[in-house]
Amino acid sequence: MAAEATKKRKGTALLAVMDENCSSCAGSPLCEAHCPVDECINLVYEELPQGGLKPYRVMVDNDKCIGCQMCYSDDLTKVQQHKETGEIFYEYASRFYDSNRNPVAPDAVPKRFQLQLIGTESEDRLDKKICPWDAIKMYEFDDGLEVSQFFYDITKLKKIDGGYVIDEAEKERLEGKQSELYE
Ligand code: SF4
Ligand code: SF4
Repeated sequence: MAAEATKKRKGTALLAVMDENCSSCAGSPLCEAHCPVDECINLVYEELPQGGLKPYRVMVDNDKCIGCQMCYSDDLTKVQQHKETGEIFYEYASRFYDSNRNPVAPDAVPKRFQLQLIGTESEDRLDKKICPWDAIKMYEFDDGLEVSQFFYDITKLKKIDGGYVIDEAEKERLEGKQSELYE
């Protein structure tokens, strides 16, 4: 876990947490479509009393989130590092800038496969939030770990056919915790 945490801190040192405002986007999470990390944002289903499952919310796998904020805002400058030379590039709206923030000539722009996203920056994140329900918050990593416990605990979910499922008892436990949070 310590190694994982160190690895994350190479990036933006943030963690995304999805709160109780999440509606799951009716089972087609918009935020998941923006996340560059496989299986980081996961749809959670709830069991229905009469049997069957329905989309409930989404959950972030805290071990996978790199804090890139791409689920949070559509107004980001991506900080990219060249995998071979280590050079830093800033990318905004598909335009590239060098480490001095000067535009890079089109023939000098590195190929996508040569670049690794190492972080993001944002001037005006608030105006271009991805989530229509304002359910996503970015936290400093350790604070995010604490807050996330009010909304999901991956170890308490069942895995059915590759998907995550919350049962009634766990849902009640979390809803109880959430009411403490807002007291
Ligand atoms: S975009 Fe918002 S409401 Fe939709 S799944 Fe993500 S957190 Fe939930
Ligand atoms: S911050 Fe980045 S890695 Fe984390 S959930 Fe959002 S999009 Fe995925």
